[in-house]
Amino acid sequence: MISLRALPGRRRSAAPDAAEGAPAPDLSAVPARPEPLIELRGVSRLYQLGNVTVAALRGVDLAIERGEFVAIIGPSGSGKSTLMNLIGLLDRPTTGAVLLGGRSVSELDDDALAGLRSRAIGFVFQNYNLLPRTSALDNVATPLLYQGVPRKERAERARESLRLLGMEERMGHQPSELSGGQQQRVAIARALVTRPALILADEPTGNLDSASGAEVMQQLRSLHDAGRTVVLITHDQDVAQFADRQVHVRDGLVSSVGLAA
Ligand code: ADP
Ligand code: MG
Repeated sequence: MISLRALPGRRRSAAPDAAEGAPAPDLSAVPARPEPLIELRGVSRLYQLGNVTVAALRGVDLAIERGEFVAIIGPSGSGKSTLMNLIGLLDRPTTGAVLLGGRSVSELDDDALAGLRSRAIGFVFQNYNLLPRTSALDNVATPLLYQGVPRKERAERARESLRLLGMEERMGHQPSELSGGQQQRVAIARALVTRPALILADEPTGNLDSASGAEVMQQLRSLHDAGRTVVLITHDQDVAQFADRQVHVRDGLVSSVGLAA
């Protein structure tokens, strides 16, 4: 048993990146400050496949502050989607805790979790996931329908969200009448319309050519500049570079955190 009293200088260390293999930080030593928007503490996620257990995440500590633009990057199979499902409150950890605004979500039942998810998080997917044969305006307004927002306000807010993405002139278009990049802009407008605390984008440029992909990334970047918290999941270093911070995932571990200027 190591006595903390044998480490007198410990509490004075400001380095968040203490030596590798160091024990989990004593949170009581962390200076008082606003809670991270999302925090994962000692999170593992095991999948059971018959007799085989797959450890998709193996002890992840990660904090995302309000207003950050973070890219989670790693090769295929590293655990990115598993991590995104946990950050997005789509899944629960096998061990460890997921906290939103400092509050553990583990005591919430599935309905409460779903409600929190729909209010707090706007999702953007690789395949856009727009409703076919439905106008851009109605696609963007749909999440507000589930929140019981009156019809007129739904249309106003959907239009405003499309305007922000430079898509107002296309609001009557159906997905099949839009390019991939335009469809993704509509999807981002839809993610924004509920004014979520977090925009969570999973490979948002995965189906786009590089020019359209760069435009979509510029849009996410300007949302961040306007104060939004954006988390982006990607396997592509060129895409990750749009973010301010990169979290590297490998073999179920957050292996390094690079801070950009
Ligand atoms: P990535 O998104 O980085 O490609 P995933 O999070 O999808 O990685 O997967 C991480 C690991 O967990 C992989 O080995 C994958 O095969 C495994 N895995 C993911 N989902 C499941 C599942 N539902 N059942 C069993 N194994 C899974
Ligand atoms: Mg994946």
